[in-house]
Amino acid sequence: MNGKIVSREPGRWVRRGQNSNTRSRVSWVQGRRDGRLGGHLSAFGRNQEAMDYASLLHVLDAPRFKGWGALLREQIPAAFSDARHGDWPRWQSILSALPAVPEIVCDFNQAAVTLQGKTDPSVLSAFEELLRALHPWRKGPFDLFGIHIDTEWRSDLKWDRLAQSITPLYGRTVLDVGCGSGYHCWRMRGAGAGRVIGIDPTLLSVIQFQVLRHFLPDEPVDVLPVGIDDVPSGLGVFDTVFSMGILYHRRSPLDHLLELRGLLRSGGELVLETLVIEGGEGEVLVPRDRYAQMRNVWFIPSCPSLEAWLVRMGFKNVRLVDVTPTTPEEQRSTDWMRFNSLSDFLDPLDQNQTIEGLPAPRRAIFIAEAP
Ligand code: SAH
Repeated sequence: MNGKIVSREPGRWVRRGQNSNTRSRVSWVQGRRDGRLGGHLSAFGRNQEAMDYASLLHVLDAPRFKGWGALLREQIPAAFSDARHGDWPRWQSILSALPAVPEIVCDFNQAAVTLQGKTDPSVLSAFEELLRALHPWRKGPFDLFGIHIDTEWRSDLKWDRLAQSITPLYGRTVLDVGCGSGYHCWRMRGAGAGRVIGIDPTLLSVIQFQVLRHFLPDEPVDVLPVGIDDVPSGLGVFDTVFSMGILYHRRSPLDHLLELRGLLRSGGELVLETLVIEGGEGEVLVPRDRYAQMRNVWFIPSCPSLEAWLVRMGFKNVRLVDVTPTTPEEQRSTDWMRFNSLSDFLDPLDQNQTIEGLPAPRRAIFIAEAP
């Protein structure tokens, strides 16, 4: 093992070595967490370019992934193309201008996913400009070498609501469907996941993820520029699948639950987070038009309805672990997300309803087991 271990604090990750564009040896150590196994690994860094999915694709070439690697070799270049998104050349130039930081300490177990390293002030101000050019930052927060990215969402609050209730992630292979910028993917890794794969078809979110990935090329954490419909159905490989903030965007929510079930191995765990209404079994809100200004909101069930859907779709051991109204503390406009946010979407005279007169957002977290 080359390089010194800098810290042994639980869940704190320390790497020694040049992180980019050099052939260097990188070593890392994972602190012990909750008394479960910690461990040492070392690896040789390769010439790491932005968007390097090579090590993930190598894993996905294994037969149990049923050809997903080959499929992604076609889907990834198609997603990252001028044709797919007019901003792609600009984003590409931002990614290629990211600084190299020689020695990085990362911490995935704080509210802000944090990277620390030696950078001089001129490098830092140029870096901040690049980050700001990736506006709007929605899911976070992140702290990158002292630059605090105060995202629209305090995604750490959602994490705190589920972290103690899920089966510990240590060593697990995890899928995060609709992961946005990958904030929760890093938190999952901080909780010890062996491999985290996020998927999100919104290119800007994937680019924001790639900024962190640039500094952490050896972490088994990837965000793929694809939607759930692009993933081969029935993979049956994941130990834990997260679907957070997705179900109400699906026109066929029951089919979404079935898809998620098919991605899990038998006995694997679903963590489902979505908007709910108050009410009994059978009650579901289908907005006639927009909901909190969003056009693509289809089904908002009551908790008993959603529990029944999960049972009907074959999940076992279905548990409701949290229900929380969304507040402007959790979702708000910031310097890093200057568009309208929750307080603009609520009725100014009655915070219990949206500006469309529908029940204000409240979100539930269910945990369930694949049969
Ligand atoms: N899971 C995160 C982000 C939720 S926002 C959280 O809970 O904080 C919803 C995300 O779903 C967006 O980033 C959006 O781009 C993504 N999304 C939309 N359609 C999707 C699809 N078909 N498959 C996967 N993700 C999708």
